[in-house]
Amino acid sequence: MKKENVIEATNLTKIFGDFTAVDAITFEVKKGEIFGFLGANGAGKTTAMKMLIGISIPSDGKATVAGFDVSSHPEDIKKNIGYMSQKFALYDDLTVRENITFFGGIYGLKRSQIKIKSEKLINNLGLQEVANDLVGSLPLGWKQKIAFSVALLHDPKIIFLDEPTGGVDPITRRQFWEMIYQTAHEGTTVFVTTHYMDEAEYCDRVSIMVNGKIEALDTPKKLKEQFEVDNMNDVFLKLARG
Ligand code: ATP
Repeated sequence: MKKENVIEATNLTKIFGDFTAVDAITFEVKKGEIFGFLGANGAGKTTAMKMLIGISIPSDGKATVAGFDVSSHPEDIKKNIGYMSQKFALYDDLTVRENITFFGGIYGLKRSQIKIKSEKLINNLGLQEVANDLVGSLPLGWKQKIAFSVALLHDPKIIFLDEPTGGVDPITRRQFWEMIYQTAHEGTTVFVTTHYMDEAEYCDRVSIMVNGKIEALDTPKKLKEQFEVDNMNDVFLKLARG
């Protein structure tokens, strides 16, 4: 059976003054897919992602996310997606439990649902001992795992991850990717940006942006064949750095 598209972008464009940051990108992402969104600094990834999550209006072209148009129904999109960035994820001065309660409330969950989901999250991540500790006192890797679980509290159809593993050690990154696999396996689509090329290998498909355009899009295996190299790092170097 053909899987449904949960993201469809057609000639999606963002122009700032006379600078085109995202230049007519066209792609689709299927339900349950892990889609890697790669590009060098300044390639336009964040700008594209901002349009997809409904916080920036496209200058041209169109996109639908979870079936909703990003320009006309941005609020419906927000109810159907989770978002986690490297820079802002959780409040350091709230405890683990308080963060879960706070974000559960923002996502519109009822108190009773928050209670159940909160205990489940704490048990799944083995956080019983630190549930009442301030998030600021925890190692970065733990924070990122909690932030990821919190972004999934409202069972979104798609989770957007903007460099979710920046600065964490390789073992924690591997554990984080186990969580990503599990999430995709359960049917949630994962849209992820990363600068780590080993992580690009873990994606079902990868797109590579160069100067606002998508210059390559395929499975890691096919991209390596196409560029006649044996790892994604070399694909990236050939493309993104010319
Ligand atoms: P990084 O990996 O560094 O986050 P990126 O691929 O996400 O890079 P963007 O942040 O999307 O890149 O930026 C793409 C280009 O658009 C950059 O040249 C940036 O300076 C420019 N840009 C982004 N936002 C604005 C804005 N609000 N006004 C003007 N230019 C902008």
